[in-house]
Amino acid sequence: MNDPAGTGRRQRHELWMRRALEVAVTGDVAPSGGVAAGPAAAGDAVEAEPGQSGDVPVGAVLYGPDGRELAVGRNERELTGDPTAHAEVLALRRAAQRLGRWRLDGCTLVVTLEPCTMCAGALVLARVTTVVFGAWEPKTGAAGSLWDVLRDRRLNHRPEVYGGVLETENAAVLRAFFR
Ligand SMILES: [Zn+2]
Repeated sequence: MNDPAGTGRRQRHELWMRRALEVAVTGDVAPSGGVAAGPAAAGDAVEAEPGQSGDVPVGAVLYGPDGRELAVGRNERELTGDPTAHAEVLALRRAAQRLGRWRLDGCTLVVTLEPCTMCAGALVLARVTTVVFGAWEPKTGAAGSLWDVLRDRRLNHRPEVYGGVLETENAAVLRAFFR
């Protein structure tokens, strides 16, 4: 079927996912797209040498309603010794800090791996409108694999979810890390 809207959305999601993959692989946490980091960005990003901390390479990017990149995050659990330092949580925190509010409605969170229960919960609390993820995570995934926190009908906010975007590339990066 001809579906220009669906095709355009898929292309945008793939483009954004490539940026999230870049964050996962290179640890590049500087905002791209010519957007200057505000004063709030000072000191909020630990410069990580990817591969040295032993952190699983997961990257997340938060896009504003206008498609502008607001913040990125890379899994920094080992680097910072913080059990909550998942890519999604770091991106949410930085975006909220930058916007000066906790409500991130209209925003899209793009992450290379299916969110866990903590991150899925945080995405719901932040009122993120759309969640796009790459590889499925059958062991801990909370966006359709093991749980579906994002679309639980008992919750009053349910983001739109698109899973398996660039799944092969995302899964390959994780496989290479664990090898
Ligand atoms: Zn998580």
